Amino acid sequence: MERILVSACLMGRKVRYDGAAKTSGDALLATWRQEGRLVPFCPEVEGGLPVPRPAAEIEGGAGGSAVLAGAARVLTADGTDVTQAFLTGARSALAVARSLGVRMAILKEGSPSCGSLTIYDGTFRGRRLPGIGVTTALLELHGVAVFTEDHIPDAGVRLRELEEA
Ligand code: SF4
Repeated sequence: MERILVSACLMGRKVRYDGAAKTSGDALLATWRQEGRLVPFCPEVEGGLPVPRPAAEIEGGAGGSAVLAGAARVLTADGTDVTQAFLTGARSALAVARSLGVRMAILKEGSPSCGSLTIYDGTFRGRRLPGIGVTTALLELHGVAVFTEDHIPDAGVRLRELEEA
């Protein structure tokens, strides 16, 4: 059975920086949960960060690929460098994906770890721009297809393709 990595906060786990969850009510996700396909994972917690924790953004809105390349840092609003925790979390996500043969993921949009279409611009003013998070960048680099919680039907199409291949 094809397993799917999912942001833990989308599955109701209170692991976000503000101590809350972002539970998804998507019916397809609920079906996959019942089927035992879903692998909940929070890269920031697995990277050693606490709950709650200060919000963090990628400097310059550079994106996860730049962080992986050592060309950008992940900072909190007071300038604390949390890059290593984000990298550790991303590597842990990849290790879990590889160990379970995961080829697709549904990750929370906008997060500096999990975003796959947009991230915040690094100014802590609530402004987003196109970009991907650190974990998304590493997963995509290794062939894992990442979908946002707003594109679960697209993930369903990919799941059928993978299972019919
Ligand atoms: Fe959710 Fe990802 Fe943020 Fe963890 S790192 S709280 S899974 S968006």
